Order: sequence, then C-alpha cells, then structure tokens
Amino acid sequence: MLSRITFTIGLFFLCTTYAMAQGASEKIKVVATIFPNYDFTKQIGKDKVDVVKLLPPGVEAHGFEPRPKDVVTINKADVFVYTGEYMEPWAEDILDGVTNKELAVVDASKGIELMDEADHDEHAGHGGEHAFEWAGAFHLPVGKYTWTFAKVDGAYADPAMKMVFVSSTEKGIEAIEAQEEAAGKMLEMEDATLRGDGEMLSPNGKSAYKLTFDQNRDVTEFTIVIEKEGVYAFFTEHMPFEFEADEHFLKDSNRQDVEPVAQEPDAGHHHHHHHGGKDPHIWVDLAYAQQMVDTIAEALAQKDPENKDYYLTNAREYNAKLAALDARFSETLANCKQDTIIYGGHFAFGYFAKRYNLKHESPYEGFAPNAEPSPKAIAELIDKVEASGIKVIYHEELLDPKVARTVSQETGVKLELLHGAHNVSKDELKAGVTYLDIMNDNYDKLKLGLECQ
Ligand SMILES: [Zn+2]
Repeated sequence: MLSRITFTIGLFFLCTTYAMAQGASEKIKVVATIFPNYDFTKQIGKDKVDVVKLLPPGVEAHGFEPRPKDVVTINKADVFVYTGEYMEPWAEDILDGVTNKELAVVDASKGIELMDEADHDEHAGHGGEHAFEWAGAFHLPVGKYTWTFAKVDGAYADPAMKMVFVSSTEKGIEAIEAQEEAAGKMLEMEDATLRGDGEMLSPNGKSAYKLTFDQNRDVTEFTIVIEKEGVYAFFTEHMPFEFEADEHFLKDSNRQDVEPVAQEPDAGHHHHHHHGGKDPHIWVDLAYAQQMVDTIAEALAQKDPENKDYYLTNAREYNAKLAALDARFSETLANCKQDTIIYGGHFAFGYFAKRYNLKHESPYEGFAPNAEPSPKAIAELIDKVEASGIKVIYHEELLDPKVARTVSQETGVKLELLHGAHNVSKDELKAGVTYLDIMNDNYDKLKLGLECQ
C-alpha cells in the first residue's frame, strides 16, 4: 500500500514537472533591440513567441547602451534580432561575449543595401565638410608603401573610392587642417586620376585619385612611392578601416604597419563616426520592412521547424498589410502640393523619402541625434521654410523638439510629429501601439503637411 502511494505521488510529480518544462519551453524566447524588430517578431510569432524589447520604453535608440542585465537576457534567449552594426554598434561586442551556443542571431538588415551619407542628395546642403570621411597624416621616410583595400565578408565596402594624397610642411593634425579645404574641393571635382590594382600613387596637389577595386581579387593593392621624407596627408572618401579584413591598410616595404601621426576623426571617435556612416533607418521604408519581416520569419522557422508554416503564413499576411499601406503612400504622396519633408530632428526618413520621390531638409548632420545642429543650419532651415510656403515642420519622437519648435515659432508653421518608430513611449507601449499604427499616423500627418489630394 505504502509503496503504491509513493508510486502515485512520484508519477504525479513527474507528470507535473514534465508539463511545466514543456509549457516553459514551448514559446521561443526572442530578444529584439528596437521597436520594429520587436513588433515584427510579435506579428509573425504571435502566441508561439515570447518577445522582449531590449530598449526600455521612452529611451532614445541611438544613445542606447545595453546594461549588464541585458547581456544576461540575451544569453538566455533562443533568438536575438537586431538591425545591424550601424543601428546597434554595441551588438558585436555583446555577441562576442555570449556563451549560449544555441542563440540564433538575426541581422534584420540582411540583404538590404544601406545608403551612406553621400547618397542623401537633397540632404547635402551643408557645404563640403563631408567630402571626405577620414583624413590621416603620416610621417613617411623615402621608400615604397602598400595601401590595401580588402573584401570584408566577401565584398568591398564600396566598389571605388576617391582619395587625395598631398605632401605637407606642417606636422600632426595641422597637416590635415592646412589641406582639408583644398582636399575637399579636389574630391568634389568631376575629373579624377583613375588607378586600379597594382598601380602607383604619388603625392598630387592637383586632383584626387579615383581608386577602383578589383572585384576578382580579395585584396586590391596600390603602391605609394615616397621620394622625399616628410609628412603626407591623405583624405579618403570612405573610412580605410571599412576595407580591413585582417591586415592594417598601410604597410611599408618590410610589410610593417604604418600608423598615422594624426587622424580625423581621431581613433577615440572612430566608434561614433562608424555609427553615423550609413543610414540604418531601413524600417521606415515599407518595402524594406517586408524584407525584414521575411528575414525574421525565416529565423523563427529555422529555430522552431515544427511551426514553420505558422510563421511563414503570419509573415505573408502581415506583409500584405505593409504592402497595402505602401501602395496608399505611393498613390497619395504622388499628388501633393509640397515635395519636401521639413524635419527638425535627426532624419530617419531617408529611405522613405527616396522611395516616394520626396525631398527632405533637416538641420542635423548624420543619422543620430548625438550632435546639436549649428545655429547656421537652423537659420538656413528657417529661410527654406519661409521660401517654400510649407505649412508644417515635423519633429521626431521621444526627444524634446527644441529645434523644430524654434523653427515653428520663427516661421509660424505648424509643429507635427513624424514618428521614426525607433522606439515607443511608456504610454504607447501600454496602449499596444504597433508599427502599422505609427506608419498610418505618419500617413495622415504627411498627407496634411505636404498638402496631398
Ligand atoms: Zn535614428
């Protein structure tokens, strides 16, 4: 009798534990960084996923740095969804430290070609200060040097790059400062001296080099000939580090690394610049959003193959909604009196504007709200607003719209939110606001502000 009770209790206990374990492991645990990744995953995974949004509500996305407890959360998850190195520059370091070998890491920007600052044509109204991304001054003894551009992850960061290479009588950072205006002009000139793999470069104060990279090789090399010892300044259209696979980009004839005596941005700011180098805001483009949805759905299906059809069907249905809204935007934005989005925040609508042939103006440099715009840039924006007859200036979400408010007060135009959907506020989260809600609201705001039919 006694043994039978023990047996029954034992069985009961076993069953309960088993059921609990099953219940706990049924849902796929997903950690998503920014709001679109979070919402997309929820729309695809519904009741089969447990999604945590890494960004606390109300937090500005570009300034976010994960806390130690976030690292623990990521380590315990099944799937981690982020937007790539330009939106989450901290991700690489965190993922290096993850010990959970089962964690599926999903870069939602997979397959999407990011625009860099130079592609923002209408946005480039701030003079030539960004003609080069990087400048370095090197003290070079007489000899031959090799500057290499390597494929990273199977591709060159860009197919070609302009470079200015000049000798200087100055030392250190002064060598860069003394030449940067002339270098900027040379980089902006149409004609440049073409050079390809294996060719030579020598100091040239008249025009920029246009270096093209050999797609058939993993590394393209240029030989730099120095006939007189001295300081030489290089100004490059892209960061040389973007082309470093496993070797430093500049070597002497003994294949020893040659480091700059000064560079701009200096090494300490490299991280920040990198962050601003490419536009990460792919999710506001409704076509890219669908691509992100597909990428996330595939990752969930791979992690949980039993429910593959469920995830793919949900993704398809959700993408149909995104496509329908895209069609509405397309139709409406083609029939507006105004064609310029005046934005008093850091501009998150670059892909969006490109998609619907709109122009945009923002006094912010770069793609993150980490530097206040200059008074000159704000004054220029005020002039543009007054000249255009536009009736609305937009501001971004979650930050005090100081700049937009100033412009609104100066010009009398209306101030409206154009939500970049990076993150939501506490109230929005509580109200269950979705990405589609945000984009529908943006539709209404743009229709009004651009005076569309
Ligand atoms: Zn942003």
